[in-house]
Amino acid sequence: QPITTDMATLTREVKKFATDKKLEIETLKVREEYRREFLGNVSHELKTPLFMVQGYLSTLLDGAMNDKTIRKKYLERAEKGVERLIYIVQDLDMISKLEIGELNLEITQFDIVKLIQNVFDLLEMKASKKDIILMFDMKYSIPIMVIGDQEKIQQVVMNLIVNSIKYGEKKGTTEVSIEDLTEEKLIVRVTDNGEGIVKKNISRLFERFYRVDKSGARTEGGSGLGLAIVKHIIEAHDEKIYVDSTYGVGSEFSFTLQKVKNKKKQL
Ligand code: ADP
Repeated sequence: QPITTDMATLTREVKKFATDKKLEIETLKVREEYRREFLGNVSHELKTPLFMVQGYLSTLLDGAMNDKTIRKKYLERAEKGVERLIYIVQDLDMISKLEIGELNLEITQFDIVKLIQNVFDLLEMKASKKDIILMFDMKYSIPIMVIGDQEKIQQVVMNLIVNSIKYGEKKGTTEVSIEDLTEEKLIVRVTDNGEGIVKKNISRLFERFYRVDKSGARTEGGSGLGLAIVKHIIEAHDEKIYVDSTYGVGSEFSFTLQKVKNKKKQL
């Protein structure tokens, strides 16, 4: 078939082709930059616990093994390092799946009160080690049904409470509350009276690998991925996440959830 396109159309098409290619290259460049940065961050995060484990094991092999108390202490520390590595790898797996949209939500109806109580049970030991009291108002003794992916919402609540313990004051409190927002939505708040966050850093909290300098973050361990995971999960539900924090006073992280509409008329 002969090509009879006129000069103007041809020029237009060539231009369009060039623009498309340029855009494609730009996208690839951004992706490549993202990948490089991601890998850089990952190896940085893995290095600290890996060197720590290696350090304790080498010292043990160099002779420390012969002392019974030191042996136990170092093995426990090495185990802690491995535990931390496992958490980091689990978080990495989660964030990469969330970022490439591979993680599908399994939406069901569930009781948010029970979910919060579950998380409290799981974290009670961790909190008591820092003398932190976990509080959840007893008025929530009846179920409050919401719609969402139960496992992922549990991860959200877990990450927020873990942070409130990590960055919380020794002998402080973490309080969880539920409040009606509208007919359809409720809001879950996790409030602590811990170190708080300097205003200028608040906007960056949800970036992956971001940690506030000079906060307890470096000593507390973690991957810097907790809040990035929280944000992804909440946004995948089309819900909102908020943070309100005052340095030296405490922080409040809150998120919305869809309520199950009660079909029966309220008396
Ligand atoms: P990390 O693994 O470092 O805890 P996150 O993504 O969960 O990573 O949190 C990012 C940073 O936000 C933390 O390193 C810490 O500096 C700050 N942060 C998070 N939660 C709190 C909180 N409840 N109080 C004070 N700072 C917090």
